[in-house]
Amino acid sequence: MKEKKLNNEVVWPTESPIVVRNFLQTGVDLLKEKIGALSQNPNNPLSRVCVANSCFSLEPVRGCPLSCAYCIAGNDCRNLIIDENSYHKNITEIDRGKLIPRIPEMLFPGEVLAETMINHPGFVKDKSIVSVAIGSSEAFLPGVEQETWAAMKYLADHGYMNPFWFAVKLGITDPLIGRWLKRFRFLKKKGIKIAISVSESNAPAWLEPYRGDRFRNLEKVKEAGVHITHHLRPVIRGITDSTESLSSALNKSLKISESVCIGGLRIDPGIVLLWKHINGKDPNLLPKFTDTEKGLPPRKDLPENVITKVKKLIKKKGYKTPVFTRSSHILSYAFDIPDVNLYKYRVEDDSVFLRISLTIQSSVKMKQGKEIVEAFREIAGSIGLPMIRFKAEAEKIFVKQRLNYQEHHLLIHAISHSGVLPD
Ligand code: SF4
Repeated sequence: MKEKKLNNEVVWPTESPIVVRNFLQTGVDLLKEKIGALSQNPNNPLSRVCVANSCFSLEPVRGCPLSCAYCIAGNDCRNLIIDENSYHKNITEIDRGKLIPRIPEMLFPGEVLAETMINHPGFVKDKSIVSVAIGSSEAFLPGVEQETWAAMKYLADHGYMNPFWFAVKLGITDPLIGRWLKRFRFLKKKGIKIAISVSESNAPAWLEPYRGDRFRNLEKVKEAGVHITHHLRPVIRGITDSTESLSSALNKSLKISESVCIGGLRIDPGIVLLWKHINGKDPNLLPKFTDTEKGLPPRKDLPENVITKVKKLIKKKGYKTPVFTRSSHILSYAFDIPDVNLYKYRVEDDSVFLRISLTIQSSVKMKQGKEIVEAFREIAGSIGLPMIRFKAEAEKIFVKQRLNYQEHHLLIHAISHSGVLPD
């Protein structure tokens, strides 16, 4: 790691994300730091402690050699090898071949990120789910795995029981499996839960060049007490959504995996940059590509009938493996906890924070001895957001302030972890 002056200042509520408009004159607006980063200052370790959809994600490195054609390993400028002074050059003026880091480069040690995370007010001891390298590399890749372990060990040695979740494509390779089995057994003895989601959608080599067996060694990992789940992702219309392709993907996992989670591909601006402007691939191959180009919020595209097809295939192959479509539901299943994202209380309308039936509101009042909005206010205070006020209008609960992504997600997670709402 290059020597740098660290800045450990916690700014919470966090500053708004910085967006670099028209990055390299491609029309793409990229975030300066990762989505959910808890600092916009690149010298602050919190810039690599991120609030992901269902967990805290520690991102000690940037760079991944697996070279998936849709991944710049993060929708942010920091994950590219480029100087801030070059953000507004024309893309033809830079060496595109050197823009995407393929050899993991350490930015902050795993231990530093773990310590930084537990000192953040939004982190809930023993409850917040923790991941490593979920948005910038592979957690068990040589050159990254030692930072993954450093972060896990730091938490375990300091008495934290928080569960760990990894989403990987590489799995765990032969030279590393012995030491990782010991590590998993050590954590299991302490009662710490771990889940590994393996992404496998039978993608062709031009899309995902890595051809190794992604479930290799994971049977032993499962025996060591780790929950193994199959991320059947990305299911892409016309590429990985045929019955044959889904069947081949399932054949690789069903003997081992305890659940299957289906998902499509969300065309984020990083994909637009890589696919069209760096790799020069045909935008029409990916669904909703032009929506993102037009500046519409990226949405996942999941071809119709895929869920039914997968369920039928699993049954036909003689298994009863449960199927989910949300990672947080996989985590609930793996860790036996309520849905960290409270999806059953969420609504399409962004102006409504949660929708909670009057019956549940009454039962919360009975149990907690206070109105639900007061219970929520106390939970917000417990994660360093005492200024947040809630308002109930019949079933709809509103937040009076505007919350950014990080505050919103950590508040939702904290309400889920509190157990105030029935699952
Ligand atoms: S394995 Fe993951 S981090 Fe690596 S290139 Fe593929 S999607 Fe990106």
